Formats: sequence, structure tokens, C-alpha cells
Amino acid sequence: MRDPRPHVGEPLAVDLLNTRWMSADGPRDLLIDLDGLRCWLTVNDLSDSVPDERTRHALLSTRDAIRRAVCEDAFEELNRILDHGRIRRVLTAAGPAEHPDVPRSEWLAAWLAADNLLRLLAERPGRIKQCAHPQCVLFFYDTSKNGTRRWHSMAACGNRAKAARHYARKS
Ligand SMILES: [Zn+2]
Repeated sequence: MRDPRPHVGEPLAVDLLNTRWMSADGPRDLLIDLDGLRCWLTVNDLSDSVPDERTRHALLSTRDAIRRAVCEDAFEELNRILDHGRIRRVLTAAGPAEHPDVPRSEWLAAWLAADNLLRLLAERPGRIKQCAHPQCVLFFYDTSKNGTRRWHSMAACGNRAKAARHYARKS
């Protein structure tokens, strides 16, 4: 299955949020079935995760927890998900290394997404944003210098908003 989503390539936590999007026919959800789950795991190099219902449910609750942490400053669910794993730090011949340790395999992909959210927030606080277009539900990680990015894509949503303002002025 080809990834049907309009916006890909964001960091893992944001990419999980972007499994929901608005199409011309209404809201869509890549994680609605196991085909979509398989597709999402493949594009994110998470082939260690088994594409089954348990993994899918772990990801659905994590997607909700990430959205609530970003949009509502509600962290309880996210912290519960983070309890499913930890980072094990070891010294190897190649130097210090970090390994995710998630005993219940159905939580591996979900835990990695939750862990990624923490990294993004540590790196650039306040830079996970929802697209400013009122009909768009996509998120993006704003890596611009001034942090003034407003659209998931200037071509798709920025110009759409500009055109709407233009026609509003004319009428
Ligand atoms: Zn958008």
C-alpha cells in the first residue's frame, strides 16, 4: 500500500498525529485498519513492531495522548504510555549507546513516538504546531529560524487561505 497521506516526513511523534487528515471526501484515518498500520510502520522504519490489533490500539491511544499533550497541556495519558518503556544506556566498543527497552512489544512503536515527543519538546519547545488553516487538521514541527511558520504547506494551505481572503475582499 502506498502512503495515501498528503503530508509526510515529520518526526515520528508528529507523523503519528498526521495519520489523521482531511480529504475532499471528509476526515481520513490511516490507522483505521491493519493495512494502514502496516504502511505507517514501514514508512517509519518500525519493522520490529508486529502489525496487529494490539499494536494498532497502542498507537491510537498514544496518538490521542500526544495530541492532548500538545494541544491541551494534559500530560497524564502520555506519562502512562511512557511508563511502558525506558532508555537503557550502555557502553559498547563503539562508545556510549542508548537502547529502548519496551518489554511488551505491542507498545514499542507507540513508546518510541511518545519518547520522540519528549525529544522534540526538549530540542525546540513550542514548535509543534497545528496548521493554521481552519479546515486542515495536520501538524508540523516548525524548524524555521524565527518559529513563525503557520502552514503545514505553503502551497496547499497558505495559498488556499490567501485566495480565500482575496475573494472575501472582492465580494
Ligand atoms: Zn494545512
